[in-house]
Amino acid sequence: MNPLKQRIVLLGPPASGKGTQADRLAQEFVTPHVSTGALLRSECERGTPLGREADAWTCKGLLVPDELAVRIVATWMQENGPRFLFDGFPRTVEQAKHLDTALAAIEAPLDLVILLQISDEAIRQRILNRLSCLKCGATFSTSLHGIAEGQACSRCGAPLVRRKDDSAEALEQRLKVYRELTLPVVAYYERTSPAILHRIDAGMGSDAIFAQLSTLLTTL
Ligand code: ADP
Repeated sequence: MNPLKQRIVLLGPPASGKGTQADRLAQEFVTPHVSTGALLRSECERGTPLGREADAWTCKGLLVPDELAVRIVATWMQENGPRFLFDGFPRTVEQAKHLDTALAAIEAPLDLVILLQISDEAIRQRILNRLSCLKCGATFSTSLHGIAEGQACSRCGAPLVRRKDDSAEALEQRLKVYRELTLPVVAYYERTSPAILHRIDAGMGSDAIFAQLSTLLTTL
């Protein structure tokens, strides 16, 4: 199916389901899913200078500097063009302004900004039970899927791990960073482009969320 919306930003706290939903939407609508967190983890795994720089921040649950996040997204857009589903970008007002400027320069403004909302308690439950595949980005719940660290990812076969920043300590830091730096991004879009901003209850089941997102992507 062809989406009408081609430039989409998914906002939400850690574990609100941005990655899972972006993955499903990318498969359904063939719009590239771009997770800045996954791009940074991949640099880190490959031991690149950018990856080493990023790791110092990400493992503590802190954001990497805006300049680094903007650089990684600009490189991606140069290579892939202005069709995307951003998951984890922009995460600060500064990044949102950079994105607006870059898109204005090519006369290709954002089509949709979607905020996935969920309580802190539900986030803690999800993250502390979460195992991730660093190769394909799939995530699994130890309680829901009955799996353990080191088991093979059912999608690509790589070993499942607990992300370094999925510890209780780093999570509290990430929630604090989200409240202080990313919630203002929602206020920024409320002010600059309220018509494209939509909120979804991310406490619903994955299929119900996907159905609502699909409607947003395919209606004018
Ligand atoms: P989650 O949404 O579950 O917290 P992500 O995979 O989106 O995880 O991001 C993991 C980490 O990568 C973040 O905590 C942060 O350190 C870094 N990161 C990702 N995107 C950005 C960004 N746009 N700006 C700054 N840091 C980022």
